[in-house]
Amino acid sequence: MKFNIKEEHLIIKPYKSQTSVYVREQKGFYQKIRRHLNWLLMFAFIAMPFVQFNDQQAILLDVVKQEFRMFNLTFWPQDFILLAGIFMVAAFALFFITTWLGRVWCGYVCPQTVWTLAYVWVEHRIEGTRNKRMALDKAPWSLNKAYKKTLKHIIWQLMSLFTATTFISYFVPVNELYSTMLTFNWSGAVTFWVLFFAIATYANAGWMREHVCIHFCPYSRFQSAMFDKNTLLVAYDTQRGESRAPRKRKDDAKALGLGDCVDCNLCVDVCPAGIDIRNGIQYECINCGLCIDACDQTMDKFNYPKGLISYTSEQQLAGKETNRFNLKLVSYGVLSVLFVLLLGIWMNNRIPLEANIIRDRTALYRVNFEGVVENTYTLKILNKTQSPLHFDINVDNFAGVELALPKNVLIEAGIMQEIPITLAINGYQLEKKITTFDFIIQSIEQPAILVQKNTVFFRN
Ligand code: SF4
Ligand code: SF4
Repeated sequence: MKFNIKEEHLIIKPYKSQTSVYVREQKGFYQKIRRHLNWLLMFAFIAMPFVQFNDQQAILLDVVKQEFRMFNLTFWPQDFILLAGIFMVAAFALFFITTWLGRVWCGYVCPQTVWTLAYVWVEHRIEGTRNKRMALDKAPWSLNKAYKKTLKHIIWQLMSLFTATTFISYFVPVNELYSTMLTFNWSGAVTFWVLFFAIATYANAGWMREHVCIHFCPYSRFQSAMFDKNTLLVAYDTQRGESRAPRKRKDDAKALGLGDCVDCNLCVDVCPAGIDIRNGIQYECINCGLCIDACDQTMDKFNYPKGLISYTSEQQLAGKETNRFNLKLVSYGVLSVLFVLLLGIWMNNRIPLEANIIRDRTALYRVNFEGVVENTYTLKILNKTQSPLHFDINVDNFAGVELALPKNVLIEAGIMQEIPITLAINGYQLEKKITTFDFIIQSIEQPAILVQKNTVFFRN
């Protein structure tokens, strides 16, 4: 037994316009998993912006204020490393899943797949089954056809607008977004982005569907590099299925010299990528398992064992054991866990306070009328927590020198405050012409929030 992989199936073909795929609605084990997952993901996507935490939207990427709020944490552009960390975790998790289970991300949870499934569901309810949809498209324009097409596109456009508005509510506070929507007071920027994402959703899920996966998605292009002989892929058992031919249920296939494939074509009709899995593994396949459901249904009808098409590995088809713990898979798994741990450690040690010190650039120092040397600084402090905090400012390295330093400085949440500081020291109290020291900024309410910033003091 072996995979029916032909070289031409793995070659990336240039874009060629092709006729639409009319997907047949299919029920079955894998379709049930997809549907439940899709409902869950859609619900999470819609509900999440309404979740409140400490009287604020729990998850908000506020572009205007340049802050990303996630429950009790607020991130700023200075926390760019977080984004890099999240990308690393996501990348290695994706490599791990793809090496193990092929393109299940595409087949089960990718937003393109989820939305396409929802749009096809609407199409099926309005225009009918696959055969009816094909007949409707071929039929000349009539009142009935115009009514069905108009209704479908209106519902698709409403779904697109709703999707885009929900998406924007991750960037604009949900209360503000919906209250201004009801009074037709959206800003130009909000209106633009809602329309932009609405058109993108309508085009992607309504019109382009599998073309996005096949021709635009970069993931489909490099996924095969992650596959190996142990990867679980949807595959047709050529040895068992061939030679294929239609037959009656009571026919003796063996006597007729036939394999188990009855050539019902259902596996092709249900395929959202519009491919025939019997031709071997193809890069268009999103591992959704719909052809397995369709084929199992046919196998049941003919009283043949299920699994002519199944999730299997090349090893398994060759009659060998699938090695679940091969080096590549384990390496991706270990790296994923490692990056999650590093990200966790970074988050745990992150201090929600940013401070910068700027020395007066016009003069190194000034000697005042009492003969005391003055150095001036501007301290910029950003309170990155979600509550107002008071700060004390101290210095090290000036033991025995009396200094007037700001105390109990109130800084509101998310506010960057500038504090001018003048240090006045008698020159004879310092040994060197240039003294290095630290400003120490510490929260009174939460002493663990402490930052030290290094600078210098000049004397004559
Ligand atoms: S071949 Fe089967 S698993 Fe692959 S995309 Fe088509 S229906 Fe889904
Ligand atoms: S669904 Fe199964 S039996 Fe029908 S054509 Fe496909 S592989 Fe053959």
